[in-house]
Amino acid sequence: MTLRELAVGASAVIETVGGEGALRQHFLDMGMIPGAELTVVKLAPMGDPMEIEIHGYELTLRLSEAEKIGIRPIRDEEHNHENWAADAVGRSAHPGLGEEGKFHAKGDGDPVPEGTILTYALVGNQNSGKTTLFNQLTGSNQHVGNFPGVTVDRKDGRIRGFANTMVTDLPGIYSMSPYSSEELVSRHFVLDEKPGAIIDIVDATNIERNLYLTMQLLEMDTPMVVALNMMDELRGNGGTVDINGMEQMLGVPVVPISAAKNEGVDELVKHAIHIAKYRERPLRQDFCDENDHGGAVHRCIHAVVHLIEDHAKRAGLPVRFAAGKLIEGDEEILSRLSLDENEKEMLEHIVLQMETERGLDRSAAMADMRFDFIEKVCSATVVKPKESKERIRSERIDRILTGKYTAIPCFIGIMVLVFYLTFDVSGGWLQGLLESGIDALAATADRAMTAAGVNEAVHSLVTDGIFAGVGSVLSFLPIIVTMFFFLSMLEDSGYIARVAFFMDKLLRRIGLSGRSIVPMLIGFGCTVPAVMSTRTLPSERDRRMTILLTPFMSCSAKLPIYAFFVNAFFPGRGGLIMSGLYVLGIVVGILAALVFRNTLFRGEAVPFVMELPNYRMPGAINVLRLLWEKAKDFLQRAFSVIFLATIIVWFLQSFDFHFNMITDSRDSILAMAAGIIAPLMRPAGLGDWRICVALISGFMAKESVVSTLEILFGGSVGTALTTVTAASLLVFSLLYTPCVAAVASIRRELGSRWAAGVVIWQCVIAWIFAVATRLICMAAGF
Ligand code: GDP
Ligand code: MG
Repeated sequence: MTLRELAVGASAVIETVGGEGALRQHFLDMGMIPGAELTVVKLAPMGDPMEIEIHGYELTLRLSEAEKIGIRPIRDEEHNHENWAADAVGRSAHPGLGEEGKFHAKGDGDPVPEGTILTYALVGNQNSGKTTLFNQLTGSNQHVGNFPGVTVDRKDGRIRGFANTMVTDLPGIYSMSPYSSEELVSRHFVLDEKPGAIIDIVDATNIERNLYLTMQLLEMDTPMVVALNMMDELRGNGGTVDINGMEQMLGVPVVPISAAKNEGVDELVKHAIHIAKYRERPLRQDFCDENDHGGAVHRCIHAVVHLIEDHAKRAGLPVRFAAGKLIEGDEEILSRLSLDENEKEMLEHIVLQMETERGLDRSAAMADMRFDFIEKVCSATVVKPKESKERIRSERIDRILTGKYTAIPCFIGIMVLVFYLTFDVSGGWLQGLLESGIDALAATADRAMTAAGVNEAVHSLVTDGIFAGVGSVLSFLPIIVTMFFFLSMLEDSGYIARVAFFMDKLLRRIGLSGRSIVPMLIGFGCTVPAVMSTRTLPSERDRRMTILLTPFMSCSAKLPIYAFFVNAFFPGRGGLIMSGLYVLGIVVGILAALVFRNTLFRGEAVPFVMELPNYRMPGAINVLRLLWEKAKDFLQRAFSVIFLATIIVWFLQSFDFHFNMITDSRDSILAMAAGIIAPLMRPAGLGDWRICVALISGFMAKESVVSTLEILFGGSVGTALTTVTAASLLVFSLLYTPCVAAVASIRRELGSRWAAGVVIWQCVIAWIFAVATRLICMAAGF
């Protein structure tokens, strides 16, 4: 029987794990090993994918992959209710936070030379709180999210109060067998950049799966401390961990912390400094048990260790780690070790022998050995809570938010609410407030300059250039901040992971997987981080396709354009036109995806195996930090790029080629230059040179389309253009090339040719749709 046939709510034991290559390894690394128990939690509203619970956490899995998992159903009575060793509490005093580390004898060992910079790698599973801890350690403002895979790039920082330190926040990984390109970043960092020490962050509420990575990190033979995070949640639900017992079994210091509440972090720092300074390596790397299933795996690992010892040393790889990966069939490690033919054959024989004796294939046998040890550690030292409050709450929320009939309506409702609150509420009065403030300031400056008899050119620069340009953009700050506020609330709460879950089936129709929804939703905020977040996608094909689609999600910098034109031309129908534009962007994106799917990117989207984290209350500090970052970022842009652009535009439109100030702007340098592309734009009704200039300046930053128009039309855009032109301009702005910053990030991910391609093809699409809009509007009699 396969997992696919298992009914919702039923439990089973895994017997076989099919599939091949990296995907199969990923299955195993996520704990889907023969002998493990799982329960089907539910099916997504559209019937696919399914959600299963295994080792106490939730995973998504498509039905087509579930088919590859062979199972044996079990009845409820047989259920091995994972209530480990309830007597462990009695044996060990409740460790609690702040207990002094008793594990290592302080002060001796093998100290690094004075003045060496102590480097740390922050490694852990996705969503285990690495970035939260990084922010606590360094006092920085990195983005935190409750979605697997938010940190896509490494970030460095210094531990507060310790000058000679450097911590690197790495993307989350589940094992040292990389599955997506961001996971490679982490593996290479640990293997090749040789950090002085590893801070392994373990989610205490998900301890089994997290320790799986810990075991592989211990094999790195690098000083290490385990930070047992989320202890607040574990203890809050009546769970506990015998810290000293765990330290003894793992052979490294373990520090209970709560990164979010900043508890235990000081102690963690003390340990981290100590182990790095005295180069205290893990006491244990040998976790295979000679009595386990006749010791086949144990003998195999040790034989391989001896076989490759000299090669590993030469290649600079930790030998125990290399042996494990060789047995699992890791190609990269194999080539780095440069074994000769004879040795390769011996290796194969050793592994084959193990497979026969153990009755499991090589990858499954290794995963099984690791989970075996983890079970021993957990049963000796962990008391799991019966069922956590967070889990119960998540299940309740999920009954509605991912319920069969309620999921999609809720999603639409939530998005509508977000847009309504962003545009109507904060876009209405907050923006109005700011606008009148800026106007008052401009008028005062104007009067002051007139009174003081300031030079005419300077006067014009300040009022027509700076106030008209920067001022008009500045008033959109509330909208943009509100938009980011809601997007980050959704992300930090864990909801976006659910969206990925129930949208998977729909996205598969256009050739993508549910994971692609994340970059797209982030794209509503800004294309730059959206493009970066595609690194979490495990396949190159999905990643490329997603990158090409994110620019169609209307970013927040385009908001000023929409808001401005809607106010001027479509008063009273603002909500309708705005939503219409967003929907149009999405529809064109879908069409583009369908085209890609049948041309550039044939084939299937990759499997969708993803963890669904519990819902969490978004941390107020985190959200505020993010908003502050975004506001700062926007203000910086307003006063750098846009400021510069306004001055340049003002200059080019106020002077002719002889640098004389002109009276009729038709003679300006700008008018001449823009006259070249104007004919091209005429079919779309955008042939006015001033519009062309505005669109060009929008390539620098979308917000500056509005400011440029304001300057060029001398503040009378609302009367100078027709409604048809406004409509066509809106559509063109929605679809044409992303701004320079976005193009640069696309180039970083895909290379120059793709980036140039995006610029050209989006302009072409925009042109086609703008022409169509104009024709439709004219036919409709506007
Ligand atoms: P990363 O993916 O490993 O970088 O994880 P993040 O730092 O983005 O955190 C993931 C989620 O866990 C966020 O919602 C955090 O607010 C939450 N979180 C982090 N540390 C703690 C903690 O100590 N206790 C609790 N209850 N939540 C935490
Ligand atoms: Mg992170």
